[in-house]
Amino acid sequence: GSETKGMLEIQKDKMTEIKFTKLFINGEFVDAVSRKTFETTEPRTGEVLASVAEGDKEDIDLAVKAAREAFDHGKWPRLPGSERGRIMRRLADLIDEHAEELAALESMDAGRLFTLGKIIDIPSCSETCMSRELQGHTLKEPIGVVGHIIPWNFPSTMFFLKVSPALAAGCTMVVKPAEQAPLTALFYAHLAKQAGIPDGVLNVVNGFGSTAGAALASHMDVDKISFTGSTEVGRLVMEASAKSNLKPVTLEMGGKSPLIIFDDADVNVATELARMAVFYNKGEICVAGSRVFVQEGIYDEFVRVSLEKAKSWKVGDPFDPTVNQGPQVDKVQFDRVLSYVEHGKREGATLLTGGKPCGEKGFYIEPTIFTDVKDDMIIAREEIFGPVMSLMKFKTVEEAIERANKTRYGLAAGIVTKDLNTANRVSRSVRAGTVWINCYFAFDADAPFGRGMAALDGYLNTKAVITPIFDSPWL
Ligand code: NAD
Repeated sequence: GSETKGMLEIQKDKMTEIKFTKLFINGEFVDAVSRKTFETTEPRTGEVLASVAEGDKEDIDLAVKAAREAFDHGKWPRLPGSERGRIMRRLADLIDEHAEELAALESMDAGRLFTLGKIIDIPSCSETCMSRELQGHTLKEPIGVVGHIIPWNFPSTMFFLKVSPALAAGCTMVVKPAEQAPLTALFYAHLAKQAGIPDGVLNVVNGFGSTAGAALASHMDVDKISFTGSTEVGRLVMEASAKSNLKPVTLEMGGKSPLIIFDDADVNVATELARMAVFYNKGEICVAGSRVFVQEGIYDEFVRVSLEKAKSWKVGDPFDPTVNQGPQVDKVQFDRVLSYVEHGKREGATLLTGGKPCGEKGFYIEPTIFTDVKDDMIIAREEIFGPVMSLMKFKTVEEAIERANKTRYGLAAGIVTKDLNTANRVSRSVRAGTVWINCYFAFDADAPFGRGMAALDGYLNTKAVITPIFDSPWL
């Protein structure tokens, strides 16, 4: 009705002008050496959003040179940790000041829901800039020039999960954002300069994976690569390091995470967690709980309530505040998700609901649930990266553990039960880097997932410095 229309119009006011589309090298926005550009599409509409400078090997070389110079001779790595912390807090303030504009840019570029971007993603970015500073008197030193290669699913969050700890450690860096969502990273480069981060410390080179990304991964003057993305590309990145200067590589890759729901769970709570675990951010989330194991006693009830919940999960424009799920990031992902739905049907799973595109334009897909899913089906083995839930029935705790672990991934897992003993037992047996008990997607700034001390450590070298003290009474 007219009320909805009014709301949409207000939200559209929030859409923002695109200010930054060039590469950011040595503190300046510049064209690519080749002058080439590529188009980024707007998933809301499927139309072109902006032309972005397309970096390649020459641009990566220039960016690495700037970062090298800033590391070898610049002041950033030599500042006391507290001083770096002060500048990063200024950056955090600037991010907060521009939160609305950044959230809008992320909605336009990546289809992230505007409201959630504004209250979750962008504030968490400024938080990572504030959460630590390096203490001065350890023998931990910044590792050097870092190459960050990031995916498109949470462009802002991914940017800061990598950039903040590397900056705090005193590293200099070149960021290669994903070509599907290249815009917010450039805005952050602008804010970083404004905050006082010296030229050359933070460089952003957009471009494609096989050119700009590969050039960064195989660069002889890059001291570390931090990569988040698909397993296939992670393999290539490690190979590129092995074939160049053996730089250490950190890889964060795909998932097919199990969510295990036991008979004693409250069905309403459990179905809500399951819905969030796989439909959140349109399923474009590495730790999505895409394999939902439900114990037989509550299975039928679980299926019934899940169907209702899928039907009331609203898909639509990311600027509409009443919407739960925005568009898939691009046509490639949209087609990929729909082809997995076809696989599921062909292999004999039951399509309970969804499975079809929706909306007149843009890349929207209905929340989809399959039941009768078997462990060896493609939809149970491969990462779909879309709003597709696979429901599986189990009998015993042992069976749940064994089937949950039947995966080549091992990123995350969820357990829903009121029984402390079951929760403890399963959390110790399940092979995953993060286990959520009676919650899902709960992050803590100090937990190892990308932030906290564990993250900082990835950008530090430990050095032993040994010297006798000749006037010491002990010698
Ligand atoms: P992707 O691997 O296709 O791309 C990731 C990045 O690598 C992009 O910037 C891309 O340009 C670059 N790239 C591509 N080919 C390259 C090459 N040969 N050399 C160097 N760089 C190259 O992944 P994607 O489709 O952008 O992201 C989705 C994947 O990311 C999913 O598998 C998801 O699970 C994973 N992911 C993992 C985490 C995590 O923390 N584990 C977080 C988010 C996403």
